[in-house]
Amino acid sequence: MLVGMFQQTAFGGMLQDVVERQAIVFRPEPLDTIVERRCKHAWEQAPCPECCETALQTRDDSPRVWCHNCRYGFTYTRNTPFANSGLTPGELLLVFILYADTLLSINQIAQLFDPCYDTVHTQLREGEAAFERGFPLVWERIQHTVEGPTQIDETGSKCSGYKGQSPPRDGLSRGGSGDPGRSRWEGAPGDKLTLVAACRDVLRVVSAEEGSAYDENLGPVIEEAGDLSQPLGEIWTDELPAYQQMDYEHRTVVHDDEYVSDEGIHTNQVECLWSLIEPWLEKFRGLSKPGLEQSVRTYGFVRSLNLVGAPLHGLIDCFALNVFH
Ligand SMILES: [Zn+2]
Repeated sequence: MLVGMFQQTAFGGMLQDVVERQAIVFRPEPLDTIVERRCKHAWEQAPCPECCETALQTRDDSPRVWCHNCRYGFTYTRNTPFANSGLTPGELLLVFILYADTLLSINQIAQLFDPCYDTVHTQLREGEAAFERGFPLVWERIQHTVEGPTQIDETGSKCSGYKGQSPPRDGLSRGGSGDPGRSRWEGAPGDKLTLVAACRDVLRVVSAEEGSAYDENLGPVIEEAGDLSQPLGEIWTDELPAYQQMDYEHRTVVHDDEYVSDEGIHTNQVECLWSLIEPWLEKFRGLSKPGLEQSVRTYGFVRSLNLVGAPLHGLIDCFALNVFH
């Protein structure tokens, strides 16, 4: 295992050492068990892929799901990111958690598991897409109340295009290379992506919009926050022109002059989110625009599950509920 100087610094040489000495060993089996149970539970409520009747059955001692009506049978991982994976369900879950919930880079995570970088990278991306499909259903089912104003803000640091070409794969392993603090994407030089976030209570919705803060479209992130926390409630933002042109009734705060307005209006929750997401984004040395969008959305949803106190079960159910898609 070749480790560059920068990478060792980023990883922590000591952690690298204890992993190589097998002092830290992952035991994904307990997670395999939970994933299997939750996926089977989801299938029992889903329509049969063959006859569309809700008549699917499972047994504890078999990975098979079968239809009581038409006798059709298949494995419980069907339609989930755990199907056709080089990783076991528990391993994929571990990889996803280390990716979404720590500052370790994908390359650093890949070193902790046997499969090569490509396997881990591809399966993370597929897992991420599945997680985002399942999140709205899981969020709807979690018992909680989302109240108060919706704070909307854009990130101060812009993401810049990566010279109009795909970033070199090799660069992913060099934690110290590139331009720190910026996550690059495959756009023309000078193109800008702006991250926009809506925070309401424990809900975090993050999106990446093309352009700078002054002409970006804030509609999508506001609508999504509204869908996930009906009704939307009051919107608190700063006084950028784009916000003032919104159809939504909202109050504003000028945070250049004051962090909290006389009326108690602020965007502190989003400021706090940026302070967490910006160092997290440094793990990527290059991202496509859809890749960056997917990553920041994942970060927001994972943060929401953490804040609502349903981290692991919420995460597993996001994957399992893909059986309905
Ligand atoms: Zn059937």
